[in-house]
Amino acid sequence: MIKSIFDAALTDQTAYRNLEYLCKNTKGRLPGSPAAAEAVEYTRQELIKAGADTVWLQRVPVPHWERGFEECKAVSSIFGVTDLSISTLGFSVGTTEDGIIAGVIEVKDFDELKKLGKQKIEGKIVFFNRAADNTLVNTFAAYGGAVSQRTQGASEASKFGAAAVIVRSATNALDDFPHTGVTRYADEVTKIPAVAVSTIDAELLSKWLRRDPATRISLISTCMNYPDTWSYNVIGEIKGSLKPNEYITNGGHLDAWDITEGAHDDAGGCVQAIEMIRLYKTLNIKPKRTVRAVMFMNEEMSGTGGRGYASEASAKGEVHYAAIESDRGVMSPRGFGFEADGERLEKLQSLAKWFAPYNIRDFDKGGSGSDISPLRPSGTLLIGYIPDVQRYFYYHHSANDTFDKVNIRELQMGSAASAALVYLIDLLDI
Ligand SMILES: [Zn+2]
Repeated sequence: MIKSIFDAALTDQTAYRNLEYLCKNTKGRLPGSPAAAEAVEYTRQELIKAGADTVWLQRVPVPHWERGFEECKAVSSIFGVTDLSISTLGFSVGTTEDGIIAGVIEVKDFDELKKLGKQKIEGKIVFFNRAADNTLVNTFAAYGGAVSQRTQGASEASKFGAAAVIVRSATNALDDFPHTGVTRYADEVTKIPAVAVSTIDAELLSKWLRRDPATRISLISTCMNYPDTWSYNVIGEIKGSLKPNEYITNGGHLDAWDITEGAHDDAGGCVQAIEMIRLYKTLNIKPKRTVRAVMFMNEEMSGTGGRGYASEASAKGEVHYAAIESDRGVMSPRGFGFEADGERLEKLQSLAKWFAPYNIRDFDKGGSGSDISPLRPSGTLLIGYIPDVQRYFYYHHSANDTFDKVNIRELQMGSAASAALVYLIDLLDI
């Protein structure tokens, strides 16, 4: 059966075509946007076509933030004026239409900010320029080491009276793409504008500041926060034959940043989940438990899709036996991370032998994903799909995350791997 699943996935283009549609027709599907609504409807129909017994939408509240006009220039009496490649961070407040012009202070972290204090920072634009640590082979750890300046930098700098923040993009790449993402303001602080700058322009700005500390930044961003609105998780299932009230889910998130096609993050995870349903139906697999494909809404901004899913599951008394999340891109599969210990972990690791012929060998204890983590308190086995992650942050949250960056074979291998794992966990009652 495992071979049949891989054979069927590797000889069919449906998931790849679904990916193409989401990338090319629902680009920039931020929660609450028309593109997100189109993605919801498209994947609902594809789940029906894939043969799911039941397909439905689960309403969840979502934030509504929109990018406006944005422009950032470095201004130096020595070097002249140059445009910096920026992207305003999600939830950021805007500047006025005239923008801000101010001196710049470069820092690496919050300690440095504290040492400089209000006297040096007040009225300035703080430039957070801590690079991702490229010696880390786990690129998620490198990202984790750099991302706090994006999520909390505006809040921390505001405490010292900063006018705005510019944050080096959290990526392993040295490229021209700004990589966006959320920033979060603490309750007590004045909200100040926050933008990401490409790593190439971060290097340039840093060089200018070393040679001309009087370099100023001119920044305009007319983004806006609007009242919350509504969107949907998209769910399709095949009813279990023996234990219909026990569930195994597999999914990713449907929303993506407004500046990107969101191919790897995370249309790929969504189309793999739809493909699992198609594979089950094509191969006439009748699972003991109910198997679900779940496309979560609003992972990127505030996780309301994942929390809404878990709270409805608990309200309905659904027992979630296991949940797989695919949100690390859809490069070649390497394995799975399991939030499990002891005997259960050993049993899960023993499944690796079925995947070895496909070079999928990493069956380790590890993290799962943010959309399924709200199921943790109910004892669900949480699993993260793990592809090769060396390229992921070259694409993540940037205009570089496009359809052509996904290889069809790698996508197909990933679909098969997740479907096969769901099959084995259900069959062997792990
Ligand atoms: Zn994601």
